[in-house]
Amino acid sequence: MPYLACTGCGKKYPLERHLRCGDCGEPLEVRYEALTPPARIEEEPCFIARNANIFPFPDFRPELSLGEGATPLLEAVHLAEETGIAEIYLKNETVNPTWSFKDRGTSLGIQAALQFGLTRVGTVSSGNMAASLAAFAARAGLEAYVYVAGDIPEGKIAPIAIYGPRLSRGIGDYGRLYYNALALGEKRGIYFISSDNPFRVEGQKTVAYEIFDQLDYEPLDFIILPVSSGGNMAAVIKGCEEMEELGLIKKAPLVIGVQAAGCSPIARAVAEGREKVEPFPNPATIAHAIANPFPPSGNRILRKVREGRADVITVTDEEIIAAQAFLAQKEGLFVQPAGAAPVAAIRKLAAAGRLKPEHRIAAILTGSGLKDTGALAHHHLEVVSVPVDELG
Ligand SMILES: [Zn+2]
Repeated sequence: MPYLACTGCGKKYPLERHLRCGDCGEPLEVRYEALTPPARIEEEPCFIARNANIFPFPDFRPELSLGEGATPLLEAVHLAEETGIAEIYLKNETVNPTWSFKDRGTSLGIQAALQFGLTRVGTVSSGNMAASLAAFAARAGLEAYVYVAGDIPEGKIAPIAIYGPRLSRGIGDYGRLYYNALALGEKRGIYFISSDNPFRVEGQKTVAYEIFDQLDYEPLDFIILPVSSGGNMAAVIKGCEEMEELGLIKKAPLVIGVQAAGCSPIARAVAEGREKVEPFPNPATIAHAIANPFPPSGNRILRKVREGRADVITVTDEEIIAAQAFLAQKEGLFVQPAGAAPVAAIRKLAAAGRLKPEHRIAAILTGSGLKDTGALAHHHLEVVSVPVDELG
């Protein structure tokens, strides 16, 4: 039987709706007595059915899937040319049902809520997760409580509200909003599918399985992705470790998380060799999707860094904007600023010599550019006006 275990102190819990350890406060994760590999993408198109072997419940409702997962893995031809690295792959998560990677975790989080007989689900989100939760809750007929950060741009609100959740804007510290919402969830019976929800992490880990499935289990040196709360990065590391255990891959790649320099609490703790993440003062970055100043799974990532499984670095907003333009103009992919951060990191690490021509790298492009059109103001995009009869 699968069970929950604390990622901090190892304490075991039954497979119930606990989110964090009662003793040390760290996130819980699902552990399995024995795992068997998931089906291959080409064998089973449905996300839920394909991954049933690496999910913890015996019964699922696959009809609640919105077609998440099985996203394309593309070769980054021009990025490879620019950096001199022969093989760089881009996992295009922008084509998920609500245009971000979050749909994988939401899908399983909703299945968990149903297993526990709950009718209310909630999330605290800077935008992407809010839309994802609202969409999957709508399909499952569950009541959705969504708390968004007070400073998310106006244009990101309506695309969440359209799914009909109970939507609130939390004024004040986003880090505190998370903990206050958890307390409210206890009181009102709302099942929070937040970044460190153990079942959401199980859904998110599938992106690592898919990348290797699409590479026919050929080895990778690095998987590079943006990191904010730390839950998705922890999930990718977990997926890689499980594949290693299953013998699907010989050695897990090093997972490199990328933060915006203007909000980089985990990277700062790594650089200073600390065991605990401290709140980041005065966060400021155009990459709103990765601007959590006090990440709930930050300490968990620091433990993985100490185990030699992970690293966390920063890129500047200028580097992110340049990478966003490069992806659109050279690779044909329009991603939101957070989604461009891994490509900014590849360019930076290649220039610094840390990434070498022989390395094999996958970068996860987490969300669509259409989710944050405000960021377009940072680009110098030209349109000329011409009389219709004098085109030239
Ligand atoms: Zn614990």
